Amino acid sequence: MPLLEVRNLKAYYLTSRGPVKAVDNVSFDLERGESLGLAGESGCGKSTLGFSLINLLPPPGKIVDGSIKIDGIEVVGKPDEELRREVRWKKISMIFQGAMNALNPVLTIGDQLSEPLIYHQGVSKVEATERVKEHLELVGLDPDIYKRYPHELSGGMKQRAVIAMALLEHPDVIIADEPTTALDVIVQAQILNLLKSLKKKLNLSIIFISHDLAVISEIADRLAIMYAGEIVEIGPSENLYLNPRHPYTQKLLGAIPRLKKKVERLEFIPGAPPNLIHPPSGCRFHPRCPYRFEPCDKEEPPFIEVEPGHYVRCHLFAKR
Ligand code: SF4
Repeated sequence: MPLLEVRNLKAYYLTSRGPVKAVDNVSFDLERGESLGLAGESGCGKSTLGFSLINLLPPPGKIVDGSIKIDGIEVVGKPDEELRREVRWKKISMIFQGAMNALNPVLTIGDQLSEPLIYHQGVSKVEATERVKEHLELVGLDPDIYKRYPHELSGGMKQRAVIAMALLEHPDVIIADEPTTALDVIVQAQILNLLKSLKKKLNLSIIFISHDLAVISEIADRLAIMYAGEIVEIGPSENLYLNPRHPYTQKLLGAIPRLKKKVERLEFIPGAPPNLIHPPSGCRFHPRCPYRFEPCDKEEPPFIEVEPGHYVRCHLFAKR
């Protein structure tokens, strides 16, 4: 049984103009110790999917249908109190986008990391201090950082402290939402290597959310590409990166500069992402797709396995 099982998940923003279908019928599995990179343009629904998995979708967002099972526990529809007690931070936790800038400037790192352990778990102050120091060391920080204030730390150190916070209750799954945004490339590489080594050391399952397909293809075992609220392609990172099948993935990868490959011109995707209150009929990518043909604007494409473990949502493959 996979550690995380997502089936036909729908998470909408219920606005006065109608539901914004930010995550629409998404299904995937994640095994223990596996990493999945979730990529796509801004507004494709990847962060909404991350917030849905940890059941912290801000209003007017709501999970309207589907199932999320973490270690066999169904979390959709579970009362918030039970989620807090059994699942959130314990089974699944999240490194929020820009979280390092949300550290409280008037509390020491130690105080803000130990607070949830003391107040939500009833852990003694001594034990909480011990646990926080252990975790600071685990992410490569000097345990003495415990006494420092956020403004005394560099961006990379703050991000490490935020990662330590996400690991405090020993979760099985971590969702890392753009964990390297706003960091310079050297620190970015250090943080990604840290997450990679934590995954190995703790047998963690990690979902990396990023708009930067090149970065996550380096560190994720599998990649999932989202477009307009749907997963349009999913498969082993190397296969998908070297041999993308979906026209949208091909365009995304064509827009990345390559050092080792002579590319005449970088690709771009014409048009704009669709309005998710009224997404396009049939294949949601059809208004921007150079290969669209007869059924594309009428029929939803099926998910087709094009090679072992590599699935694509496109009529081109159904035809074959
Ligand atoms: Fe393009 Fe049609 Fe495939 Fe959609 S289903 S990506 S429109 S070819």
